[in-house]
Amino acid sequence: SQVLSTSTTDREVLAEWDKKHFLHPTSSIKQQQEEGPALIFTEGKGIYLKDTEGKEYIDGLSSLWNVNIGHGREELGKVSMEQMAKLGFSSTFATFSHEPAIQLAAKIAEITPEGLDTVFFTSGGSESNDTAFKLVRHYWKLKGLPDKKKIVSRRKSYHGVAMGATSATGLKPFRDFTTSLAPDFYYVDSTPEAFKAFIEAEGAETIAAFISEPIQGTGGVHLPPQDYFKEIKAICEEHNILFIADEVITGFGRTGTFFGVEQFGIVPDLMSVAKGITSGYAALGGVIISREIHNDLIELSDGLFMHGYTYSGHPTACAVALKNIEIIEEEDLVNNSKLMGEEMLQGFKWLQQEHEIIGEVRGLGLMGAIEIVKDRKTNERFADPLAPKIVAESLKRGLIHRGVIYEGADTLIFAPPLTIDKYEINKMINILNEAIGAVKKELA
Ligand code: PLP
Repeated sequence: SQVLSTSTTDREVLAEWDKKHFLHPTSSIKQQQEEGPALIFTEGKGIYLKDTEGKEYIDGLSSLWNVNIGHGREELGKVSMEQMAKLGFSSTFATFSHEPAIQLAAKIAEITPEGLDTVFFTSGGSESNDTAFKLVRHYWKLKGLPDKKKIVSRRKSYHGVAMGATSATGLKPFRDFTTSLAPDFYYVDSTPEAFKAFIEAEGAETIAAFISEPIQGTGGVHLPPQDYFKEIKAICEEHNILFIADEVITGFGRTGTFFGVEQFGIVPDLMSVAKGITSGYAALGGVIISREIHNDLIELSDGLFMHGYTYSGHPTACAVALKNIEIIEEEDLVNNSKLMGEEMLQGFKWLQQEHEIIGEVRGLGLMGAIEIVKDRKTNERFADPLAPKIVAESLKRGLIHRGVIYEGADTLIFAPPLTIDKYEINKMINILNEAIGAVKKELA
């Protein structure tokens, strides 16, 4: 193939190469081939992204729910440069270690709920969940209960795309992408009764763990009933089943507390994190385990701990995470998430009064959703969902957000950076108002 200059910034050349050489993650391949890349971003500052045409967009989903501290943070560039220059890479396998990984592990123990003290590092959320699944099974094996291996998740859940993570994902379209999945994964409805019935049918002696996002993100920002997790945790304790909280989205301030589980008054046995741990400036994730599990792993260890990624605790990623957490704390971004989340929800309620096609609106911290309905009273949906059309109209007006249409949904979802202010929330709501208005006009 003939590639003349890979440093080109000519948009047409880039678009051509994108189609020819770049297989995009979670995408419509046909659309990419027909239309090429819709936007090619070049820079970002705060809640804004800028593209090759110089046009600015509000990043209403913090890119992939991850850019918590906003774009263009020079501090993180500086920390990366210093760490790479000092120690670009060294291993953490066996008894080797390095300063950034140790410092970050200690910092994580400080900010996580009491009792969650030890972290295993990964490069992202999918690896974190696959690690959690292997860990809980390893744990039960050490405890002399190797038959406890089933992993139970919820139907609208999303846990990533590695083999275990895909197998645990309740949203069927992600599983249908491939053929064979990993064995021993099961899905239940989101009620304590459904979980109890599952345990009764399968036997607690076959179940290793229950996994759940505190608030389901990809599935459409679904909040659980207030006591759901307390009841689930109690059921887990009664039946000797471990509870894994998938905090990949909800961790690091997204919901208005440092971690999502704090909203529901529970402490999980294991917690998967990624995304907001570095605000996306470097690839990092982790599984944080309870003191009890760690102690058992130490006491019952039957040889080597045969699980580790080359990049478990990458020095630069750890240094970036430390600085990112420092910024979250110094700028009080967890509290800002709570306050601006309330502001965003008020905005959604105002839109609901303006537009009869808006049904339920909901949110917690800076995670929010708007349901689009044909009939508010019956919750009937449009045969042809409107969310994609509204998303397209928002984009024209400089706002990026996502529409969810899996399994009959017609939902708009939002998760702007935790740095957002009142003025910017208003701007977002005004653009949405116009975008929904434009789609309604088309309908009429
Ligand atoms: N878990 C949850 C709740 C997520 O939302 C995601 C990604 O969106 C993942 C896991 C997978 O993380 P990653 O894409 O970093 O592998």
